[in-house]
Amino acid sequence: MNAHSSIGSDSPDPNGSLSEGRGFFDKISSRIGSQNSTGSRNIKPAEALLLLQNYEESRQGWFWSTDAAGNLTYITESITEILGTKSADLIGKPMVSLFLKPADNQAGARTLPFILTKKMKFNGLEVQAANSEDECWLSISGRPHQDKSGNFLGFRGSGNDVTAQRRMSLDTSRLAMYDSLTGLANRASMSKKLETTLAAYRQQKRACAVMLVDLDRFKQINDTLGHPAGDALLKQVAERLLKVVGQAGEVSRLGGDEFQIMLPDCDDRGILGDLASKIISSLSQPYSVEGNRCIIGASVGVAISPFDGLTSEDLVKSADLALYEAKGNGRGRFRFYSKGLQQSAEDRRVLEEHLRDAIGKGELELAYQPVVNVKTNAVEGFEALMRWNHPERGQISPALFIPIAEEANLIWELGQWAIKQACKDAAGWPGKSRVAVNVSPIQFANDLLPVVIDEALSGSGLSASRLELEITEGVFMAETNETNAMFQALKSRGVRLALDDFGTGYSSLSYLQTAPFDKIKIDQSFVRGATEPGSRNGAIIAAIVALAEALAMETTAEGIETLDEFALIKKLNVSHVQGYVYSKAVGNKELIENLEGGRWVIEPAGPAHHRNDRLSMYRKVRMIHENHVYSIVIRNLSKTGALVDGLYNVPIGTKFVIDFGDGQLAVATVSRSDGNLQGIKFETRLVDDGNGGLCTSRRVSPYLIAEAGLDVPNLPAGYVPTAKIDKDTLSLPAFSTVADWKATKIKPK
Ligand code: C2E
Ligand code: CA
Ligand code: CA
Repeated sequence: MNAHSSIGSDSPDPNGSLSEGRGFFDKISSRIGSQNSTGSRNIKPAEALLLLQNYEESRQGWFWSTDAAGNLTYITESITEILGTKSADLIGKPMVSLFLKPADNQAGARTLPFILTKKMKFNGLEVQAANSEDECWLSISGRPHQDKSGNFLGFRGSGNDVTAQRRMSLDTSRLAMYDSLTGLANRASMSKKLETTLAAYRQQKRACAVMLVDLDRFKQINDTLGHPAGDALLKQVAERLLKVVGQAGEVSRLGGDEFQIMLPDCDDRGILGDLASKIISSLSQPYSVEGNRCIIGASVGVAISPFDGLTSEDLVKSADLALYEAKGNGRGRFRFYSKGLQQSAEDRRVLEEHLRDAIGKGELELAYQPVVNVKTNAVEGFEALMRWNHPERGQISPALFIPIAEEANLIWELGQWAIKQACKDAAGWPGKSRVAVNVSPIQFANDLLPVVIDEALSGSGLSASRLELEITEGVFMAETNETNAMFQALKSRGVRLALDDFGTGYSSLSYLQTAPFDKIKIDQSFVRGATEPGSRNGAIIAAIVALAEALAMETTAEGIETLDEFALIKKLNVSHVQGYVYSKAVGNKELIENLEGGRWVIEPAGPAHHRNDRLSMYRKVRMIHENHVYSIVIRNLSKTGALVDGLYNVPIGTKFVIDFGDGQLAVATVSRSDGNLQGIKFETRLVDDGNGGLCTSRRVSPYLIAEAGLDVPNLPAGYVPTAKIDKDTLSLPAFSTVADWKATKIKPK
């Protein structure tokens, strides 16, 4: 007979669950007990004992009893295996010695010794076996028993093994907290963690940064290689992120291709910028996924508490805006949050709306920049560059609106228009100059691209050999059969292909061997770098040229502006140049005028070399000296110093604090002084802001401002205490100012 069936509906379930086990024990013991006191017999004692025995042997649960001192008087044999001893050895030992002493921080765990001394009834107490080899958890219940006169005799109780359940519930809570694909913390747990961290840090006046990382072109990989490949890629991304971030912070996956990193106690934008760059370059290295090679990029937005938000919601919102901006600026970049971003995000949304109608309204046109043979100075072709004449905003750069078009699914329509328009224009040119049209990777991934090319050629009558398509290495991010098929489809039509922007991304020479390019275009940033002392770019360009020649490809150096760049490029045997040194892009009419007779020769001309890396600008900032604030103008700015304009006759060695706004203060010393111009050196170097500009690596914490007794309700607002003018202590400013700029008194601390 089976012990379970005789108990009817109260039989313990096969898992030996805690509540059922307890019910079983209670029922059995009360029925045995009741037979003596009331005489109403449900089960004969012998039968009951047998049942208990069966139950014990089934290992669904076990029984124990102690004497008044808490020492064991009985324990089921089967459980003692788990406990690592024989029951005979345990008899007489304290019940509490069977279990690990609960750690102090384990809530409620101290209760067993406590309960035993208090002689309290207890149910389902979870304890860990002391001498078990594997981690083993038991749930125990017990009730005190007395003799007839009410004297406490000890405890009787039951127990069962809950190790498996415990593990399962741990797994479940793990599932709830972690992303099952990558094993990183998930959105919910990260957001909770960020919230508690920020709440604590607000009290402790500590800083905490948040980075949002978004993969560029991930969707295309997912679409072309399939979801399992996409999943495998995400796992590798997670591994790389963990490796780069290391101990500095905690990485989580928010979902899709978005990751978030929390970096406690980090407010140095120099360090954060470096980390963001490292993340971008690590994630941009090629991946091998299910035998396919693929490349993606990443954009990063950074926000720092307390400056950019105090709550987790605000901080993440700020990081999100920064990310949006980073993506809008051409991807593969990082951006710090700044207050202007709100406006700029809004601007982009408005632009996106206008862009939808731009083609229909005839606001788009193509300009053509000559591509010149450096040996003959003869123009051999033109690159078609899109121009948008916005009715209110004037000309908008394609560097701004092309990324918007890509994001907003407008690039196909725009690109199709550009290809057709360029072919139509080129067919009307005197001579046989080629026209190059930019093709976004999104267009390249569309099966219909060859059809569009066919229509453009047949519609215009342009011969295919005069059309060149400029493609960036973005098209290689997923090296699939489709990519190769597209190359073949285009080549078979007789159009030429150019690899654009070489030197800006991963720049693998291996593309040149696999894809049928007719030309490599070396990016202007790469050329510009080549003129810097110690740069290896020159050697790399020489290698590219050699390889290109061997493969019968042309080379074009882009963005050549100065004569020293031009000389270097010539020396490196680059065959063609496209840059201001020859000509900017011109309208179709001007092109036709210059191409009289089918030939246009241009003499290179331009400045001898680039000016140093100082950013020329005209930016009003505030300069604080003693307790006065002066308005001055920054004429140019580098990481180490600036030229400022606005004060007269400032002695060399004078110390100032420059206030760049938004809590960015830099201590500076005057190193040169000439009338109203001062050269100043910063005590701490400025750092890249990720957008071609500079910023201070640290900002003055709004906490400090608040501490200075100023009411800054929503902390990160403007904080320099100029508003608090204390007329009584107004003293004369040390320096006279240019024209009408006034010095304002600051309240002394
Ligand atoms: P890109 O394909 O690298 O085009 C070259 C860019 O460099 C052009 O900028 C050109 O005006 C600029 N440039 C040429 N010579 C010099 C120089 O000596 N100095 C400097 N500083 N710049 C020079 P633009 O016209 O603003 O175009 C920016 C980017 O927008 C292009 O970069 C291209 O990626 C994209 N774009 C333009 N038109 C189209 C289009 O029709 N379709 C697509 N998909 N993208 C386009
Ligand atoms: Ca181009
Ligand atoms: Ca280019």
